[in-house]
Amino acid sequence: MKHAKGTTGIEPQVSLLAWDRTHCGPEGQAFYESDAVEVCKALRAGGLKVLFPADASRVDWRDGVFNFPSALHDGRSPEISAARTMAACRDMFARWRDEGCDVAVTITIGIRLGDQELWTSCAGRLGPVIRWLEHPASKLPGELSAMKKWCDRVQGALRELFPEVITAPGIEELSAIMRRSGALRFRRLFVGPGEWEQEKTERGTRILARPPPGEGKGIVEGGYRPTEVWEITRSECLHCGKEFIDCPCSSVEGGEKVTAGKIFCLAWGRPSSARP
Ligand SMILES: [Zn+2]
Repeated sequence: MKHAKGTTGIEPQVSLLAWDRTHCGPEGQAFYESDAVEVCKALRAGGLKVLFPADASRVDWRDGVFNFPSALHDGRSPEISAARTMAACRDMFARWRDEGCDVAVTITIGIRLGDQELWTSCAGRLGPVIRWLEHPASKLPGELSAMKKWCDRVQGALRELFPEVITAPGIEELSAIMRRSGALRFRRLFVGPGEWEQEKTERGTRILARPPPGEGKGIVEGGYRPTEVWEITRSECLHCGKEFIDCPCSSVEGGEKVTAGKIFCLAWGRPSSARP
């Protein structure tokens, strides 16, 4: 996992790291999901400095999945900052749940303790993830010496909260969403250059794409089709009128109106929107 530069000061701060990349091009283009901004705004409002990925695009997915970028907490009492990030994610997930959305989410949270980093990652549907984030055992300990005790607490808490799934998921299911770093993150299937073409129809233009090798069955059975993913390049806050990503307002106060965007990539997605 990459490390942020210059994070040895005492000011509490959060660095968003290890954001996703498309597989198009030699290294792909870095991106983070649009809704991560909402969490970062809540953290800034609480006095945390948030270091955003400068070269990453903010993209708008509506495919029923949300991966929060891995967030490393540094400075004074990083475990307290990390707990605030988890609470901000939990609050946003609870709003989605209350709006009746069906979303699968991942969050990966780390803290720096001296020259060591501790990370925790979880993935699941909104209800179970909210329950886990509400449990005190989900919070990272502030000392390395407390690690073993914390691991025991996590195991006990998971048994208590989710007794029905104590033997699941299977290792295959878990390895499908686990990165080499150990972070859990739902995979996106991109449509690469040369893998698609346009077809003119009576109703407009249709995109035809070939599924990647070995993925065809899952794509057909899952009802996926090639969809456009949009990059938000400018967005106006409907509360204060400023650029939404920089202003202090939350989406609850009025939301945002995208004033500029462009197609970021093509990816396999489901036709219906999972979030409003
Ligand atoms: Zn605003």
